[in-house]
Order: sequence, then C-alpha cells, then structure tokens
Amino acid sequence: MNKIVDDKLLEAKKLSLRNPEKSYEIAKSSLALTVNDHEVARCYFHMAYACRVMSNYTEGLKHAMYALDLFEKASDEYWILRTRNIIGIVYFYYGNYKTALEYFSKILVHRDLMDAKLLSSVLNNIGEVYREAGNHDKALDYFHEAMDISDKNKLMDHVAAISLNIGEVYYITENEKSDDFVQRAYELGVLHGDLVVQGEAETKLGRSMFRNRKYDLAEKYYKSALEKFNKVNNKYYLIDLLINYAALLEAKGKPPRKYLIEALNCSIQTKLENKVCTIYKLLSEYYERNNDFREAFAYMKAYHLKDKEIEASNLSVRLEIMSIELNASRQKDEGEDLKLMGRRLKREIESVKEELEAIKLENKALLEVSLYDELTKVYNRRGMFKYLEEVEKTDKKDVLLILDIDYFKKYNDSWGHLKGDACLVDMVNCISSHNFEDFAVGRYGGEEFICYFKADDIDEARNTLELIREKCQSLKKVYYSEGEKFITVSIGAVITHLDKHPLMSVLDEADQQLYLAKESGRNLCKIKEY
Ligand code: GH3
Ligand code: MG
Ligand code: MG
Repeated sequence: MNKIVDDKLLEAKKLSLRNPEKSYEIAKSSLALTVNDHEVARCYFHMAYACRVMSNYTEGLKHAMYALDLFEKASDEYWILRTRNIIGIVYFYYGNYKTALEYFSKILVHRDLMDAKLLSSVLNNIGEVYREAGNHDKALDYFHEAMDISDKNKLMDHVAAISLNIGEVYYITENEKSDDFVQRAYELGVLHGDLVVQGEAETKLGRSMFRNRKYDLAEKYYKSALEKFNKVNNKYYLIDLLINYAALLEAKGKPPRKYLIEALNCSIQTKLENKVCTIYKLLSEYYERNNDFREAFAYMKAYHLKDKEIEASNLSVRLEIMSIELNASRQKDEGEDLKLMGRRLKREIESVKEELEAIKLENKALLEVSLYDELTKVYNRRGMFKYLEEVEKTDKKDVLLILDIDYFKKYNDSWGHLKGDACLVDMVNCISSHNFEDFAVGRYGGEEFICYFKADDIDEARNTLELIREKCQSLKKVYYSEGEKFITVSIGAVITHLDKHPLMSVLDEADQQLYLAKESGRNLCKIKEY
C-alpha cells in the first residue's frame, strides 16, 4: 500500500461533490505517484467520479472503462463492482436509464462480495432510476432497503441522502410523509454540521409549505437555506432554491426576476445546461404574464436555441459513448465489422460536432446581443450582472447604486412617451459621460438604472453620487405638474466588497436605500456601508 496515493485519493473522494474540479486534479496528479496498476486504476476511478459530478459524461465513462479493465486484469472483484457502480451512475446522469439499470442489476447479483456502503449505494441508485422513470412504488422499495442497511450500519451520510430521496418521491406523490423524511435528513445535517444537507432539506421543506400556501413559513425556510448555501458558497444547490424562492415571491406579489436571473447565472457558471434552459422558459413565462412581450420573446428565443443545443449535444454524447463502448469491446474481439462500424461512427460524430459548434456560435452571438438595452445602448440587466460578476478585485471598495428618475410618469404625461424615451437616452448619456474609475451603467428596467464604480471610502462615494445627481438635474429637462419643474433623480447606493456578498442581497440593500431617498423627499442620495 502506498500511503501518499491513499491519502490523496481520500482527499479527492471527500472533495468530489463540493469541488469536483479540485477532486479531479488531485486524482490526476496522483497518477504520477503510483507504483502499480491497481493504484493507477483507483486514480482513474476517482477521476471518473469527479467527471460525472461535472457532467463530463464521455470523459467519465472513458476513465471508468479504463479502470474497469485494470481491475478485471487484477481480478479484484470488489473494485470491479465499485467501478461498475460508477459506470451505471454515469449512464444514469446522462439519462440512459436502461443501461444504468443493467449495470446496477449485474452488481446486485454479487451481494456477498459487497460491503454495506456499496450495497446501500447500489440500492439507492436503482431507486433513483425507478424514480426518474416514474415507477414510484419500486423506487420506494429500493430506497427503503438501502435505508435499512445504512441505518443498521450507521452510515449517516447515506441515511441523510436516502431520506431526501424518499422525501422527494413522497412529495411527488403528494404523500404527507414527505416532510418527516426531509426533516430527518435536516436533523442529520445539523448533527454532522453538513450545511449542504441542511440547505437542501430546508429548500424541500419550504417548497412543501409553499404548496400548502403557508407562504411566510416557506420564506423562513428559503431564507435559512439561502444563508447556508452562501456560507458554503455552493452555486449548484442554490439554483433550485432560487427557482422556488422566485415562485414564492411572485405568489406574494413581489417581483421574482432578480432571483431568476441569479439562478440563471449560477446555472451558466456550473454549466447545468438543462437548468439554463428551464430558467429561460420560466423568465419568458414571467414576462409574458406581466405583458412585457419584448423580454418574453427574447427569452423564448433563447430557450429554443438552448433546447436545440442540448439536443445536438446529447446526440454527440450518445455517439461518443457508443464509440467508447465499441473501443472497449474491440480490444477483446478484433472483427472487420467492428472496424467498419467504428469508422462510420467516427464520421458521424464529426458531423454532429460540427453542427453543435454552429449552434453554439449562434447562441453566443445571441447572448452578446442580449446583453445591451435596445433603447439606451448601455448594458441591460443581464449585461450589467455579467459585468458585475467579472469586475476585477482591487484594494478599493465597490459602489453599486440604483438610480430612479423622480416622477417620470409626469414627464411622460407632459410630453408623451416618445419624448420620454428620448429623455431616458439623454439621461444615460449624461450619467455615462463621467469618468470615474471602472464606471459602468446598465438599465435595470423602465426608468431605473444601475451604476457601478470604485471608491476608497463612503465619503468619496457620496461625492460621486452627488455629482451624478446634480448632473442629471442640470440637464434641465422640464416637465409640468403643478408648475414648471426640472427632472431629478433619486439614488440608493451601497459601498461594499462585491465578493463578500451575493449580488442579490447587495441589490436589495441598494433598493432599500433608494426607497429611503424617495421617502425622504426625492432628488436625494442615500448610501450605506455593507
Ligand atoms: P417615483 O418618483 O416614485 O419614481 O415616480 P415615477 O413616476 O417615476 O415612478 P413610477 O414607478 O410610478 O412610474 C414609472 C414611470 O416610468 C412609468 C412609465 O410611464 C415610465 N417609464 C418606464 N419605462 C419607460 C420607457 O421605456 N419609456 C418611457 N417613455 N417611459 C417609461
Ligand atoms: Mg421606478
Ligand atoms: Mg421613478
């Protein structure tokens, strides 16, 4: 036994779910330290595991197949079974349930060779396949069996994960037992200080409260989950929470778009294409409900293109997987037919990949266009969020402000909508004519704008805000309501370090400051440290 490799692989295993990139790197770098085939195989095993977490199915499958080959040569039955389990999982995550089930079932034949951990994992996996296939009774049978074994052997992380799975099936089938299982997972999460399990459980409990129209309770759960995911900085689990939170806000008559956009950003960052697609659709439907047909249409288009991209990409993965399987069987049996099939497959893969590249380019172009506001030509909300995600960290602090034109409705009433539009353009040009450090402007929506700049301290920031406010007033845009008046703006701002808080909560704080400015009489700036 090589202690260094053992330790490194243990670390890779621990990191696999939380930080799969790092896990992969550790497993890969361990390869250089191996002294025999068995260790090489175990490195590939862990690389495969990390790959499936990163949705890198074809690479995961390649590594797993290679590991399997080495374990088979060494006749190590236990590791052969573990590797088949990983291969089954890769197929499952890729959506090939039939093959996944075949792999899992074959392992189950060798119950005598398995330890409790592997056995409960395989049973749980089979449950997941049945759940996805909509066979809830069978899913529950397997989950409960996995649960008994994990309970008996005190595999508490398994118990927590399986409880969440059982809770999910009961939730889908509208069985009231759902909350009990989720609650159990939550308590285990607390016991072991596992914030992700706690957050996942709270998301599910909140969703259940929401379904029963207990909105305030639901919000309490969601807020608590949000805190946990922010603490562990986990974007992956944040996505479902934000989607659920958005639905709750809308039900309470509050705008959900900030949460949906944040969910979209998380999905893009974690490369969860299916989620990106789902959220585009949710956004389109939201805007349609609110009669903003331009945005609704833009998101609907993005949704369809993404859907097309996923389909092409699935086809490409499917073909690649066929090619990997073919290679694996070819090594054992070198027939002419297989060679021919291999060549044909290769050509087909290339043509699908070309098509995929074309779609991806189209999507990228669409994304570029969709980052700017058509009227004012500055960033739109999406563009601004993207800009903010990418701002460079320096010693200076970040200032984020929301600017809202005062009584703009009255300006429209005085001059009509077209002149109103022109006023918005002039206003933006005036704001962006400033030359502050790293200054950026975006249209938040309607007559509201977001600006960003850097400042040393709150006094410097306040001076800049005042300059912007005065500049807008000095445009001398006249409107009439109870006499002749000039257009003014109210500004709510936050000075902070953007990397310390989720963007949403920074915007919330700025929003509250804006509200204060309006309340205190308008034509004012309010700022706070955060
Ligand atoms: P407050 O000081 O409280 O912000 O008053 P307000 O009238 O500015 O705010 P309110 O939110 O009640 O109305 C915003 C108005 O902004 C409504 C709409 O007429 C106008 N508006 C929003 N988007 C556009 C646009 O794209 N073009 C034009 N011309 N007007 C817009
Ligand atoms: Mg407004
Ligand atoms: Mg206004």
